[in-house]
Amino acid sequence: MEIYDLIIVGGGPAGLTASIYASRHKLKHLVFEGGVIGGQIALATSVENWPGDKAVRGMELANRMAEHAKSLGMQMVQKTVTEIKKDGAKGCFCLATDGEYFYAKALILATGAMHRKLGMAGEEQFLGRGVSYCATCDGPFFRGKKVAVIGGGNSALTEAVYLADIASEVTIIQRRDEFKAEAANVEKAKANPKIKFLMNSTVAEVKGDRFVKAMVVEDVNTHEKNELAIDGLFVYVGNVPASALGKMVGVATDERTYIKVDGVMRTNIPGVFACGDITGSAPQAIVAAGQGAMAAMEAYRFIKGFKEGIAVVNR
Ligand code: NAP
Repeated sequence: MEIYDLIIVGGGPAGLTASIYASRHKLKHLVFEGGVIGGQIALATSVENWPGDKAVRGMELANRMAEHAKSLGMQMVQKTVTEIKKDGAKGCFCLATDGEYFYAKALILATGAMHRKLGMAGEEQFLGRGVSYCATCDGPFFRGKKVAVIGGGNSALTEAVYLADIASEVTIIQRRDEFKAEAANVEKAKANPKIKFLMNSTVAEVKGDRFVKAMVVEDVNTHEKNELAIDGLFVYVGNVPASALGKMVGVATDERTYIKVDGVMRTNIPGVFACGDITGSAPQAIVAAGQGAMAAMEAYRFIKGFKEGIAVVNR
């Protein structure tokens, strides 16, 4: 039975950066990614706040990170981890995938967050047939068609601008009379003549036959409902943390179920570190990458049995 120094769960900016630092510290490690390499950033149409890149496609940035990590020796296992437990007898952590077990002295959880569903009627029924959570993936199917984007955060505003290049018309539907997104993203959307706005509104239902044909928009103040013709709906109403694996080893979470960490990315369980969106910090690739670096450096110190961590001042 092989015991790795470290296993990193998640191959987004946090996990990939942790791998880069683990390799440089000569830690024998594996990275598990059961979905898209790069995680959510890989699905972003344009990343405009990654230092050194004024604008880069999310997929390209993710691929470059993965290439960098691989060049230093990252071994990636493209499988979903289904279970994690502390193996008391072997004195290490045990991770299970479909029928295989892997062992490590330390763990870094970089499992990120998943898109939140809106909960409107018809959302599940029309998933992949007009309802989408990824403009990069599905936007091209709506060339010359009418689409709506639900949400008022940075994702909704930036993806609406991307969709306006493809669709004939984009309607942003936000439940308040203002946006949560950064002013720069709001300005860009407002300056686009193909983007319309429906404020103080949400979508109660999506309708169609085989594909989406209409949405029922509800005014959140008056509760008046209107049916509007639409070909596609992109839902960007935030994320939910993927913290289930952490809970299996007893990692403490906050009231929103994000994993609690200290200033050097330690969880309450010795040897388990967390970084990136799963910690509930600002969900930005650059923040995730910084936390990934910190988690790997601290994991190194844990594995080597050092008494003091790096950022003693933060504790
Ligand atoms: P978000 O920032 O959490 O925004 C979610 C939006 O959906 C909010 O406007 C929210 O309304 C709305 N919403 C939530 N629940 C809803 C419901 N049940 N019905 C209707 N509307 C609902 O999520 P996000 O835009 O997906 O972004 C996730 C993170 O990635 C954020 O931290 C964001 O800053 C980051 N990001 C950054 C960039 C960038 O360019 N810097 C780009 C993409 C994403 P309220 O406004 O009323 O809360």
